[in-house]
Amino acid sequence: MLLVGNGYLITRNQENDFYKNGAVCIENGIIKEVGETSALKTKYQDAEFIDAKGGIIMPGFINVHEHIYSAMARGFAIPGYAPNGFLEILAGMWWNIDNTLTLEQVKQSALATYMESIKNGVTTVFDHHASFSAIRDSLFKIEEASKMAGLRSNLCFEVSDRHGRKKMEESVLENEAFIKHALKDDSDMIAAMMGLHASFTLSDDSLKFVRQHKPDGVGYHIHVAEGIEDLHDSLKKYGKRIVYRLMDEQLLGEKSMAVHCIYVNPSEMKLLKDTNTMVAHNPESNMGNACGCPPTMEIYKHGVLTGLGTDGYTHDVLESWKVANVLHKHHLCDPNAAWGELPDMLFNGNAQIANRYFKRKLGVLEAGAAGDVIISDYSPYTPLTADNYNGHILFGMQGNSITTTICNGKVLMQNRELKTLDEEKIVADIQIGSAKLWEAIKNK
Ligand SMILES: [Zn+2]
Repeated sequence: MLLVGNGYLITRNQENDFYKNGAVCIENGIIKEVGETSALKTKYQDAEFIDAKGGIIMPGFINVHEHIYSAMARGFAIPGYAPNGFLEILAGMWWNIDNTLTLEQVKQSALATYMESIKNGVTTVFDHHASFSAIRDSLFKIEEASKMAGLRSNLCFEVSDRHGRKKMEESVLENEAFIKHALKDDSDMIAAMMGLHASFTLSDDSLKFVRQHKPDGVGYHIHVAEGIEDLHDSLKKYGKRIVYRLMDEQLLGEKSMAVHCIYVNPSEMKLLKDTNTMVAHNPESNMGNACGCPPTMEIYKHGVLTGLGTDGYTHDVLESWKVANVLHKHHLCDPNAAWGELPDMLFNGNAQIANRYFKRKLGVLEAGAAGDVIISDYSPYTPLTADNYNGHILFGMQGNSITTTICNGKVLMQNRELKTLDEEKIVADIQIGSAKLWEAIKNK
């Protein structure tokens, strides 16, 4: 039994969302009780006490869109790569990496990404994977890394026609095998979706093959209108906008996630809402790729379940929030924009999205919910109350303020020291792996 206490406790449970000096008791991976530190300390004297030292205790973060396969891109300058637009970024950098990775490098990338996730307080990751040079078993390799790290993962492989029909089919079969495996797993630590790259790299014929192989009970995880080119392609080839095409191809629904949604119009937003499809917003990636600012505030206003991801750009969801916060204010020329919407997306939206796949309640500290708890080092020098804690988190904290990460009742990091992963070994291995990958791409 664990008792995490002696800090400002933010539960995200609307009935008792804040304790000035609160604690959370975890037993067998599940939260047993939440309350005042002094009361719970008296009640659970035998529990191992983890001292928040006056910092902030809150639910583990959820990242609804991540790319493990991009880990080895950090610092990589591909000779001759000078992209003029989004399609050249994809083809020159990302499709080059995803068509060169080995299975060993996939696992190294996964371990590095999970390690950084834990260090940023992320306990649940929705990953969108691609390794067309090593398709088979790639999701199972990532699962091995996820289990070693001890966090929750929802995995998929991004099916695409971009490397030919044979690899498209093979990636569908990898998804199918992994989804069946995940559906049988009762640990509530692994889930799966059918991954799709984007409308513009998937023909009707390929989508038919995809549908034939998607097991029931899961949805699709697909990039939607990330670049204007995706919209142009859909209009030109199919005579309809992307969300309408996805609707006609039976890809929408409450288990499906449409990522980005930059070039969607109000009627497409309504369609996303009517089908109860989820949307993932990744502000830094959109800005970095010069793709444009998505109409996320409008999508949110339509009542679409919207969450925040990092798209592999960072593993720090607080950074995503900070950037989205200034992006929408700047874009809308409205200093009042996005104050309420973004924390609602990050804390409530991400939790609801995760709970469409994981059974145990996530993103909230209450009896019966998952024992996913983090501690942030934080000493407020202005009053911190039930009315303003989000302002303190937004302006006073960042991912590396997190000192302790607990997932499913297991301590993954304590006082910045990793407990499940060997950081030195992971870094040494991925340095060798990434040098090999870079060399392989340069010699292509
Ligand atoms: Zn993405």
